[in-house]
Amino acid sequence: MPLLRLLGQVLTRPLDKHFARCLLCGSGDEVQAGVCASCQCDLPSLGHACIGCALPLAETQDRHFDRYCATCIQRPPPQASSVACWAYAYPIAQLVQRFKYQRDFAAGRTLAELAAQALHPHVQQPPRIDILVPIPMHWRKQLFGRGYNQARLIADIFADYWRLPVAPDALRKVAASDSQQTLSRAQRRKNLAHSFAAGPQVKDLHVGLVDDVITTGATQEAAAQSLLAAGASRVSVYALARTP
Ligand SMILES: [Zn+2]
Ligand SMILES: [Zn+2]
Repeated sequence: MPLLRLLGQVLTRPLDKHFARCLLCGSGDEVQAGVCASCQCDLPSLGHACIGCALPLAETQDRHFDRYCATCIQRPPPQASSVACWAYAYPIAQLVQRFKYQRDFAAGRTLAELAAQALHPHVQQPPRIDILVPIPMHWRKQLFGRGYNQARLIADIFADYWRLPVAPDALRKVAASDSQQTLSRAQRRKNLAHSFAAGPQVKDLHVGLVDDVITTGATQEAAAQSLLAAGASRVSVYALARTP
């Protein structure tokens, strides 16, 4: 690496990042936000995806027709848009799991920093977002389960990078929903319909709703619905990853 470029990088980076090793391959070469340049190129991009729910769509000649998936055409989601940074596949899925279940905050920070950069162009498109709101975790889970809300940590990093305020208490989870993993999208939607409550501070604001992974989209839809019911003017969803 040319000396001037190296020097430039050293001077513009926070101190703890100079000699970091890549979280994925251990290389010390051009590590940015915890992942080396070569591993960053190999991360699973989502490609062309549905505007409503971020589901990856097959490329066609007539892209105009294919802006939404069949489900969103049939039943438009409450949020104006959903954007995810990567497909939920190797190694993103492994990093998300390390972050979520093993309290690997370095993995979480890496994912959120890389996603903040990659999603920045979407965020800059008008209408401007007024406030970021993380998907909450029910308090019982917070006390006895994982103990921290990973969406909150992601929202804080997005907020830093995008220079936006965060309202971590604007959305509350009022009913502990059973594990959603075995339910269909329709069942999840029904199960989640009244599980969130949004506060009056979102009134007339364009809310950027932040989550780690969009699986069926039902959680984000229920949260968006409750933000709109509380008077939010618009909700746009931002996530690290989307399951295909
Ligand atoms: Zn690497
Ligand atoms: Zn869709």
